[in-house]
Amino acid sequence: MDELRELYQEVILDHSRRPRNFGELCEANCKAEGHNPLCGDEVTLSLLVEDGVVSDLRFEGSGCAISMAAASTMTETAKGRPVAELRRFFEAFHSLVTGHGKPQDRPDLGKLLAFGGVAEFPVRIKCATLPWHTLIAALDDEDAPITTED
Ligand code: ZN
Repeated sequence: MDELRELYQEVILDHSRRPRNFGELCEANCKAEGHNPLCGDEVTLSLLVEDGVVSDLRFEGSGCAISMAAASTMTETAKGRPVAELRRFFEAFHSLVTGHGKPQDRPDLGKLLAFGGVAEFPVRIKCATLPWHTLIAALDDEDAPITTED
């Protein structure tokens, strides 16, 4: 278990130090901004959605290691996936980091499982879910900036 925990920590550190898909996507057809006032995390997403699939996406922003690693791993997970599948991933990720639901009811979260430890730190949950909330807002095509405070 400790080894697994170390591995998970490694994933989070690696993604927070070297975020993947960072920047702005010029050909984006959908965008959303999210912020988590509790921690000061900010995430802006730009996505190219074609035929119900997220063909490409990038994120910009700043914040704590958890929020940046969550944004980076979210973009890796989302790229090339159907929108419907991503909604299921969002629900599964949410149940993982809040410690609710049964693992066997979730789709295979892959490296997103690294965020399972967040459930022990309730103050960090919103840092981890911010990029996912922002993704769903972008897919729902909400123009208003979203916040975790509502
Ligand atoms: Zn944070």
